Amino acid sequence: MVAIAIDGPAGSGKSTIAKRLATELAYIYIDSGAMYRAVTLAWLENLSGKPQQSNADLQLIEKILEDSDFEFNGDKVIINNQDCSKEIRSNKVSQNVSYIASFPLVRDKLVAMQRKMAETINVVMDGRDIGTVVFPDAKLKIFMIASAEIRAERRAAQLQEQGEEVDLEQLIQEIKLRDKIDSERAHSPLVKADDAVEINTDNMSIDEVVKAVLNLL
Ligand code: C5P
Repeated sequence: MVAIAIDGPAGSGKSTIAKRLATELAYIYIDSGAMYRAVTLAWLENLSGKPQQSNADLQLIEKILEDSDFEFNGDKVIINNQDCSKEIRSNKVSQNVSYIASFPLVRDKLVAMQRKMAETINVVMDGRDIGTVVFPDAKLKIFMIASAEIRAERRAAQLQEQGEEVDLEQLIQEIKLRDKIDSERAHSPLVKADDAVEINTDNMSIDEVVKAVLNLL
């Protein structure tokens, strides 16, 4: 089936564009970041006390992946029959997700699920390694970028909508840290695929980006 891959750093506009494209093309939108967020939320809920990021995490993550039931359905994320679609967007999950996403066993499991989802349907999938690892033969690969400041402003607006308090300066630092971990990890780092088209969304409206991608397609 046809896959369109949209990769890029946090807040570059991937999900907004990917959703719009999926609607225009009558494809299914898959948010791979939500899958890494779901595993992170399950990890946070299984910890006793504050997240420490310790040597014991590998075993705990193994157990979570084995014992938990993760369902990804459109915008909904269900963990063990509980709708966690809102909880996975919290700042606490954002602060820990790059750490959990750096574990190869997490990536192997989620990449297998992502490929399976696209076996029978046409998809627009956004993430960090969609064009490089998940679908190296994707019909179109887009690498979206924007400045850290603009990305943090977009993220702040989302968090405020959910009623969370935000400190813009702190968000900029957190986004930069997340990009650093995502770009420098050994397994499937965030990099532009050789055959991806880079789009800088700093000074583009949503409509303009959607139009540019449709033209490329
Ligand atoms: O897209 P979003 O910002 O929600 O992704 C959250 C995190 O999940 C990223 O910062 C990254 O650590 C991880 N991720 C990943 N590979 C993907 C999608 C997300 O490592 N394909």
